[in-house]
Amino acid sequence: MMTNTTMSVEERLDYFVNNYDLIAAGVYSKGPEKIIKTDAIKKCRFCKKNESETNFTNTAHAIPECLGNHQLVLSEECDSCNKFFSENLEVHLDKYTRPFRVMGQIHGKRGVPNYQSNNQKSKVKHGEIPAFVSPATEKFFTIDKENKTATVNFHREPYIPLGVYKALVKIALSTIENKEELSAFSETIGWLMCADQTKSVIKPAVVIETFIPGPRPTCGVAVSLFRRKPSCASKPYAIFMIAFGNIAMQLIVPSILDRTTLTTRCIAFPTPFELCGWPFGQPRTYNKDMSGTEKRKEDYLIEYSFDDIEAIPPDSIDPELYSK
Ligand SMILES: [Zn+2]
Repeated sequence: MMTNTTMSVEERLDYFVNNYDLIAAGVYSKGPEKIIKTDAIKKCRFCKKNESETNFTNTAHAIPECLGNHQLVLSEECDSCNKFFSENLEVHLDKYTRPFRVMGQIHGKRGVPNYQSNNQKSKVKHGEIPAFVSPATEKFFTIDKENKTATVNFHREPYIPLGVYKALVKIALSTIENKEELSAFSETIGWLMCADQTKSVIKPAVVIETFIPGPRPTCGVAVSLFRRKPSCASKPYAIFMIAFGNIAMQLIVPSILDRTTLTTRCIAFPTPFELCGWPFGQPRTYNKDMSGTEKRKEDYLIEYSFDDIEAIPPDSIDPELYSK
């Protein structure tokens, strides 16, 4: 997939306005539940089983709670599909997005996630103010006094890239309210539910990631699902955007209607921060290839800027910060 960064913000916006319709969108956080309802006969939109064939006891969040959604609930997801997705797909999304969630202080089911390095020596704890604790020998952060930046080196727990991609596709399909839109994705659903995690229907599977600097640019989690207009058959059928904390992710949602037309070229949707000018610096957009089906280990560097830095005696630090 290529992103066309030579296009201006206005040109990219026009591209979406001219070629796509928005079929699902919202911003979710804490607050009243919003339920995506079922038809008269309750049926799981993934396995197609009804209430006499499967159970619907658990609350299935259309967007995982770990990303900050405590509102949008999908009633068309049965317990066994919910379990399957959580164990096979969301587990990779959880590992991949953890540094983003620590950085963006995203409230999941059990509050903002803390962080601990593999050897347990470096930690990030979220109390009243976030505390980064690490012995100097660990090189968990690098401080650049001249440029007033601190770079933090997060380890990601090993994750399967294609699992992350599939988890995002699953979220996209969970946000659709108009059931007529689902028929274009019946094969995609089959792929999501396939136990063989090495199969792919999109190659390369690329996520366009945008890092937006500054304090929590997106409150809650924002989603938009675009479906091409009938006259635009040469474009990818569906494109999904999801943003939380400092990160926005965009990807193609594969459809059977892409079969003859699928181009993996995708134009980056301009974030609101590019459109209106953002005082904390320019958002940075890059492509991330998520086609891999083997576990990937990597570090994720986050740069923080500061106004002032001060050394304090070690015995003045709350010992609680060192404890588990
Ligand atoms: Zn099901």
